[in-house]
Amino acid sequence: MQFDIVTIFPDFFRGPLDYGIVRRAREAGLVTVNIHDLRAFAHDRHRTVDDRPFGGGEGMVLKPEPIFESLEALHVAARDERVSSGMRQSVIVLSAQGRRFDQSAASELSAMDRLVLICGRYEGIDERVNAFLADREISIGDYVLSGGELGAAVIVDTVTRLIPGAVGNEASTRQESFTSHDAQASGNGPDSTCASGGLLDYPHYTRPADFRGMAVPDVLVSGNHDEIRRWRRRTALEKTLRNRPDLLRQVALSEEDKDILARISGKED
Ligand code: SAH
Repeated sequence: MQFDIVTIFPDFFRGPLDYGIVRRAREAGLVTVNIHDLRAFAHDRHRTVDDRPFGGGEGMVLKPEPIFESLEALHVAARDERVSSGMRQSVIVLSAQGRRFDQSAASELSAMDRLVLICGRYEGIDERVNAFLADREISIGDYVLSGGELGAAVIVDTVTRLIPGAVGNEASTRQESFTSHDAQASGNGPDSTCASGGLLDYPHYTRPADFRGMAVPDVLVSGNHDEIRRWRRRTALEKTLRNRPDLLRQVALSEEDKDILARISGKED
């Protein structure tokens, strides 16, 4: 996977992509991240990349010319070709007005070979970039950031950890929060883990078993894998009900899940 990030603040990315899984994936050659300074594609003395908005109003808008030129310099395929011939490339504009990014969008993007991420600033980017150059407009959440750089870093991080080999234990990315693939146990023997199936992950504990009088749940040290799995499913359902009830409407729940939820709701009355 090759990521190309177009930004007016290339130094912004010193740090966020240099740690942990993303760093190791870069070092192992699983992903390449190239950062491009948009100002290098502005030709006037001041390297101007922004201008006043047509129609009036506050602030400045990123001009189309440097952005189009930057993508030409990167030899990105034309939009028609990219979209119609099923090339595994995507040019993405980071925008508060974009489609909201989530784990399934990350998974879709992880099947590509190349992602170009265009970071806006000021009031945003000239709309012709969306209309004629990019094929996706993505928002990382319902809030307004001051620039697309944090969004680009979020996409690089979430997509990288889905690339085979990037996360040491691949099974772990299949059972995390929001992930709805079937996570069949691949090994032999009893399995005490449980896939989130699109819900939130279950709570995790590690040693010490008793920390300042706060004990870990007994079941987790019982060695009974079946009971542990059931406890994990129940606590994942509880947490989802409490923090993200919207997710419960989107996933297929088993009869056992429905029973558990009915019992939890009963207790709350
Ligand atoms: N006027 C715009 C906000 C511009 S913020 C509006 O009201 O929609 C400046 C830049 O920050 C945007 O061009 C975009 O690249 C980035 N940005 C802001 N919020 C974002 C979000 N939720 N997701 C991704 N990028 C965002």
